[in-house]
Amino acid sequence: MKEKVIVSKFGGTSMGDADCMKRSAEVALKQNAKLIVVSATSGTTNDLIELSKTAEKSTWENAVLILTKIKVKHLKIARDLEMSPEKIDPLNQLFEELESMSRGVHLLKDCSLKALDSIQSIGERLSSLLFTEAMNVVLRAAKKESNARWLDARDVLITDNQFGKARPLTNEIKNLCLEHLSVLKHSDIIFVTQGFIGKTKDGMTTTLGRGGSDYSAAILAEGIGADILEIWTDVAGIATTDPRLCSDARAISEISFKEASELATFGAKILHPATLLPAIRSSIPVFVGSSFNPELGGTWVKKDVDNTPLVRAMALRKKQILVTLSTPEMLYSHGFLYQIFKVFNDHKVSIDAITTSEISVSLTLDDSTLLNKTLISDLEEFAEVLVEDNLALVSLIGNNINHTAGLAKRIFDSISDINVRMICLGASKHNFCFMIADEQGPEVINRLHKTFIGK
Ligand code: ADP
Ligand code: ASP
Ligand code: MG
Repeated sequence: MKEKVIVSKFGGTSMGDADCMKRSAEVALKQNAKLIVVSATSGTTNDLIELSKTAEKSTWENAVLILTKIKVKHLKIARDLEMSPEKIDPLNQLFEELESMSRGVHLLKDCSLKALDSIQSIGERLSSLLFTEAMNVVLRAAKKESNARWLDARDVLITDNQFGKARPLTNEIKNLCLEHLSVLKHSDIIFVTQGFIGKTKDGMTTTLGRGGSDYSAAILAEGIGADILEIWTDVAGIATTDPRLCSDARAISEISFKEASELATFGAKILHPATLLPAIRSSIPVFVGSSFNPELGGTWVKKDVDNTPLVRAMALRKKQILVTLSTPEMLYSHGFLYQIFKVFNDHKVSIDAITTSEISVSLTLDDSTLLNKTLISDLEEFAEVLVEDNLALVSLIGNNINHTAGLAKRIFDSISDINVRMICLGASKHNFCFMIADEQGPEVINRLHKTFIGK
């Protein structure tokens, strides 16, 4: 029988220290992964962003403190893995590169998105070097013939030039996967590469946006024609809601692509929202499990599932804003929505939920979009704009949601004392969402979980 080609992705917590790395490597070995995609060690991307900001805005001494913290953390892992000086050399080169880039930002007092992407890329480049070693340590201990080989993801993961949120160019990636990775199907080599990062056609480093390693892994799984994509994290699969929000949350054994996509898009951090696009496109089943406790099993995300409950899971998306655009010109006229969407399109901002009345439209967005000052002023050119912040978007994810009598009553009965700012129902069979005050998010999720899922 043909051996299944498995791509395994390990997140930041699975890269936390040398023990985490070895534990993750054992999981990869047991699963017979052929391509391993890793995130930066936990907290490092945040440290790199802080370093960039500090280099831009503060003293060089303060930037050096963060540089040192990053260096010490990674050198400790290298020491714990008993890496030889020659093997540590590439790490030192990355520290030097990081210092030079930070110096540049400091001197220019300017940290563009382009510079920030190059700086952030150091996190995954460091962790993947360390993990390649951890993998080889585990392979040697298991007396395997296979060998882990480091691959620069930027040699295959070509993107457009939207720094900070670059889009992978799938055709180019498929060709480069053939060129660089087809050997993995008939050799003992296990490739280890970086999630999150890519390169433009003209060689500039990009990133796919926070949490983007899941997406990288899916894109590469598609590129090499993998049979299975595994996402290994710190929880045993996708749960009925974020276990950090609700202690009754429990793992889901199976979920459909459509439901999981809604869950990821509407705030469940467990998967980057774009992860399932390539998996759906190429029908690659996705498994989500814990690298800390792989024996607990996890969740299969696939096209068809056996049971289709009305409410499978719920998500909370914090720090949302509601933008309401009003103009009497909308009365009996057309083209208003076109004008609005054009502005959002020009600014490359995606809208999550939307409702309209005769003369107004309300849209929900991440509050980070307000950093883009000209978006609101461009909208103000043709409508009165009201921005409300400190909101959260609550979503119930399931099946047949828009055709089930009494669902809304059950939802709102359980939160009857809470002000609901906006409701969005009807467009999807799989999603019912509404907005509330940010601070009420955990309480609302707990009450809804009790009503629809229970203990
Ligand atoms: P990684 O670093 O492995 O990518 P993340 O922190 O990005 O891990 O994602 C895992 C976290 O996602 C979990 O620790 C959990 O708190 C959170 N999470 C949010 N929603 C869910 C959910 N429905 N099921 C499981 N975990 C969830
Ligand atoms: N290291 C990146 C981040 O922290 C990407 C990822 O972990 O998926 O956002
Ligand atoms: Mg993640």
